[in-house]
Amino acid sequence: MASVPFDQLDGFIWMNGEFVKWADAKIHVLTHGLHYASAVFEGERAYGGEIFKLTQHTERLHESARILGFTIPYSVAEIDDACRELLKKQGFSDAYIRPIAWRGSEQMGVSAQSSKINCAVAIWQWPSYFDPAQKMKGIRLDIAEWRRPDPRTIPSRAKAAGLYMICTLSKHAAEAKGYADAMMFDWRGYVAEATGANIFFVKDGKIHTPLPDCFLNGITRQTVIVLARQRGLEVIERHIQPEELEGFEQCFLTGSAAEVTPVAEIGPYNFQPGEITRTLMNDYSAAVQPKRAIAAE
Ligand code: PMP
Repeated sequence: MASVPFDQLDGFIWMNGEFVKWADAKIHVLTHGLHYASAVFEGERAYGGEIFKLTQHTERLHESARILGFTIPYSVAEIDDACRELLKKQGFSDAYIRPIAWRGSEQMGVSAQSSKINCAVAIWQWPSYFDPAQKMKGIRLDIAEWRRPDPRTIPSRAKAAGLYMICTLSKHAAEAKGYADAMMFDWRGYVAEATGANIFFVKDGKIHTPLPDCFLNGITRQTVIVLARQRGLEVIERHIQPEELEGFEQCFLTGSAAEVTPVAEIGPYNFQPGEITRTLMNDYSAAVQPKRAIAAE
């Protein structure tokens, strides 16, 4: 955990079209987004001064807002520019980028027709989502009691604040038992994902991953599937039953923050971080590096 509280970091935050001092990027307590979770956000990483898949993330931010019934008053290009400029202003080459959009404080109550839509971007240095010493050995996951909900009960394709209520509950329960994170089943009982990352398994040289039909189809998940297929590996997207956990040999998580993280345990089930996991960790590390033209000598 950072020793300095997040509201006391240094630099600037881009907020509603302006760069404001970090400490001044505040909202009122009667903000709709705070009371009713009318907020959508992104999580991105910059490597070597460039934000990986920036436009894809910004497009997802716009799409999440559309799903929640609001329009962000800044175009994808404007938000992309804000992210790039802020990265330079913060002086980081490797960093974490957090864009967020939310309904403001003009109207209180469930209805928020006259609330303004706000948008902000913050950038800080977040080296590893999981303890780096543990990461290479494989992290330990609890099995969450909460399940990813039926898409008929919540807009599960949006990266929206409200979807994270059960993630924080599950992660806290896991941490209380000494686990790094938790694996969640979905409402039907199929294996779904971790609290902030997608999940993959390896068995007999083939890769299996849950169908993202009630949770985020992560940008890292999609990238890793392409990387695996480029290696000639078979990737099978399908419903995965809990009984199958016993038979999988390797397991790893994917996410913009988590990158590719090997998993050693899920509750009573054990996995060995093996060759395929290591190959995809390395391929992902190479893929995120900026593609610069190599100057001829
Ligand atoms: N699932 C959840 C619940 C997440 O929070 C994230 C992180 N955004 C992911 C999956 C992975 O998504 P991505 O690879 O796009 O970061």
